[in-house]
Amino acid sequence: MDSLAPWAADPRRSRGRLHLEAPPEGRDEFQRDRDRIVHCGAFRRLEYKTQVFVNHEGDLFRTRLTHSIEVAQIARTIARRLRLNEDLTEAISLAHDLGHTPFGHAGQDALNRCMQPWGGFEHNLQSLRVVDSLEQRYGAYDGLNLCFETREGVLKHCSPANAARLGEVGRRFLEQTRPSLEAQLANVADEIAYVNHDVDDGIRSGLITVPQLMSVALFARHHQEAATRYPGVGERRQVYETIRRMINTLVLDLIDSSGAAIAERSPGSVDEVRAAPTLIAFSPAVEQHKRQLKQFLFENLYRHYRVVRMTAKAARIVSDLFEAFVADPRLLPSEHRRNAEDDRHRAIADYIAGMTDRYAIKEHRRLFSVDEV
Ligand code: MG
Repeated sequence: MDSLAPWAADPRRSRGRLHLEAPPEGRDEFQRDRDRIVHCGAFRRLEYKTQVFVNHEGDLFRTRLTHSIEVAQIARTIARRLRLNEDLTEAISLAHDLGHTPFGHAGQDALNRCMQPWGGFEHNLQSLRVVDSLEQRYGAYDGLNLCFETREGVLKHCSPANAARLGEVGRRFLEQTRPSLEAQLANVADEIAYVNHDVDDGIRSGLITVPQLMSVALFARHHQEAATRYPGVGERRQVYETIRRMINTLVLDLIDSSGAAIAERSPGSVDEVRAAPTLIAFSPAVEQHKRQLKQFLFENLYRHYRVVRMTAKAARIVSDLFEAFVADPRLLPSEHRRNAEDDRHRAIADYIAGMTDRYAIKEHRRLFSVDEV
């Protein structure tokens, strides 16, 4: 704890929880948050939620769970080097995708379209809803009752209209201030994780190829290095050697460049961090390289016709479910039907958002296929 920098979030100075609780024993406030996240149901469901590939497309592809673990690993490494709070960084990283719908972005876009007349659907806001109210496991309150600092990190983006309704945790979107460095870091670690594992999964799926990727500077440089060092090991291993080098380059650059920005600004507290510009950032050259890789993935993987076909099917499942439940809430399982008495559309969105890919597919079959019960 004493190695924490003045710009790091200190669990002894947390802004607190929504519901007052006795301090934890044997661990600090942010460790307790991390533990609550790992033990919650929404965390376990991440195992069966799409990152890019739908769960049944293959056993080796990333899911939201393995993605979240990779984000936490990368973020913690960097947090330690920058003397940030590792536990808070880990908590935010593990929780950042809890509000994701089944079927990745296609599912979220479909649900957002369905919910347009009723306030829309944002997955970051949904992650906060999960930890603030939808997880129901404690006797004294709804939600996981996490610290302000963890909740602030989970709410990565938010529309001004929604921010205005959220009170303290939404304020930074209205005042244009920054979150803690731990939250900024989890956000960038998310990007490092997915651009790299999507290259890996993309190649494995056959949707993108090594020769194609040689047009991307970051990949080409490290692939040449790997192929020179290990010419006879075969393409699969060369790809791994390339990806580990790319992750390393991005991580080291982020440490150097953010470390320099922090040293220059030298914030004396988290409040000074919040008032400062974004301090966790790549150098301009590496930022440019990362952007080129992202652009490549957008054009060649996320918009590949086979991905688009699967996502179109997924979007249809989400809209079908939504319309069926809105038309007849008696189709909802009893617990969700009770929630629907207050706000039908939001309760239906919560129910659908909580589904795993395979549960959504099954539920769709149960509702629309007469030979299914
Ligand atoms: Mg993510």
